[in-house]
Amino acid sequence: MTSAAVATNPPVRRLGDWSAARLRDLADEYETPLYVVDVERVRENAARLREAFPDADIDYAVKANSRKSVLETIAETGFGAECASAGEVVRAGEAEFSDVRYTAVNPPARDLDRVVEYADDNEITITIGALDTLDRLEERGWSGTVYVRVNPAIGAGHHAKVRTGTDPKFGIPAGRAREAVVDADERGFTVAGIHAHAGSGILDAEDLAAHRALVERVSELAGDIADAGIALDAVSVGGGFGVPYRESEPPLDIHALARATREAFTADARLGIEPGRYCVADAGVLLARVNTVKPTPETTVVGVDAGMTTLARPALYDAFHEIRSLVPDAEGRETVAATVTGPVCESSDVLGRDRELPAPERGNLLGIGNAGAYGYEMANTYNARPRPAVVALDGADSELCVRRETVADLGRLES
Ligand SMILES: *Cc1c(COP(=O)(O)O)cnc(C)c1O
Repeated sequence: MTSAAVATNPPVRRLGDWSAARLRDLADEYETPLYVVDVERVRENAARLREAFPDADIDYAVKANSRKSVLETIAETGFGAECASAGEVVRAGEAEFSDVRYTAVNPPARDLDRVVEYADDNEITITIGALDTLDRLEERGWSGTVYVRVNPAIGAGHHAKVRTGTDPKFGIPAGRAREAVVDADERGFTVAGIHAHAGSGILDAEDLAAHRALVERVSELAGDIADAGIALDAVSVGGGFGVPYRESEPPLDIHALARATREAFTADARLGIEPGRYCVADAGVLLARVNTVKPTPETTVVGVDAGMTTLARPALYDAFHEIRSLVPDAEGRETVAATVTGPVCESSDVLGRDRELPAPERGNLLGIGNAGAYGYEMANTYNARPRPAVVALDGADSELCVRRETVADLGRLES
C-alpha cells in the first residue's frame, strides 16, 4: 500500500480516533445505549481487503453485522454474501448482493424450505457440511450449485468457542471430502467449490501459521478432487481475519496475510475468502451512560445502561473491548480502576474489569470500541430489556437505522 493510501485508509480505527464531541451529540440526539456504525469506515475496510486480494472471490460473512445500511454498503462494493441462515439469505437478497451463498450448518427444515423458495427466483450456492443435506435438498426438488464444507482439523481464533476448524459439528472430515464431492456430482449437483473455515480472530504469527496450514490442506484436497475428474471453480479458505481489540495490539497485516495465502494456495481454482469481523468491527462504537458509581474495597463499580444483553461478547467469550470516557474534561480527571457493569442480574454482566478510567460520574458518556462486529447481532431481550437503537453515519450525515425497541415491542408476539 502506498503511504497516501495508509494516510487515508489506516489499517485500524481505534476508539480514540472517534470524535468525542460527535459521539456526545449522537448520544444526546438518540439516547443510550446506542450503537453507532460508520459506513464510510466499512467502505474503507472493504477497499483494503480488495486491494490485498485483487483476484479473490470476497464474500462478506453477514452474521458479523446484518443491519440494512451495512449490507447495502458492502453489496455496493461488489462483494458477495456468505450467509449462516435463511434469514440472512433473505436479508442479503434484499440488500441486492449479486452472489449469495448459504452455508448450511445443521440446517433446520424451515431454513431449507425458505432457501429453496428463494432459489426459485435467485441464484444461490449452498455449502453443505453433511451428506444428508443433499438428501434434504433433493426432497425439496433442488439440485443446484453446491460447495462442500471440509473440516480441516485445524483451528484458529481468539477463544476456544470460536475455533470452528477443529469442531466436528462443522464440515465433512477432510479424509471423506473427496468422496462427498464425487457423490454430490454423481447425484446431479454442480459442485462449484470446497470451503473451510478455521475460526475467528487471526491476528498473530501463530494464527497466521494455522491459516497457512489450512490453505495448504484445502489446496491439496482440491488437487485430489481434480484427479477424480471434477474441476472446481473456487476454493474458499474462510474468514476469521482478526482486528486488534486492545489498543496495545498491532493491526493485522492484511498484505502479509494475503501473501501467505497466495503462497500456500496451490489449487487450480479461484481463491475465495469470507471476512466478516474485519469489514465492520472498527466501524462501530457502542455508547453507554453511567447510571451509578459505587466505590468498594476491591474496585469502583461503574454501572452503565448497556450490558450483556446489548453487547454479549465479553460475557460469552471473555472478549476484551476498550472503554473510553467521552466527557469533555476527561484529560483533566484523576483515574480510577473501574469495573464497568451492566444492569442485568448475572455476575457475567461485566463489560470490562480493572479499567483505568477518568473518574466516572453519573450521566457521563462512555464509548465501547470495536462494537461493529457481533454487537447488535447478538443483542437480546433477557431481563425484558429492549434492544438498543442503531444509528448509521456516512460522512457528516447520520441516520437512525434501527429504532430503539420498546417494552411494548417485547409483548407483540404474545397471544
Ligand atoms: C463466521 C464465519 C465467517 C466470518 O468470520 P469472521 O471472524 O467474522 O471473519 C466466515 N465463514 C464462515 C463459514 C463463518 O461461519
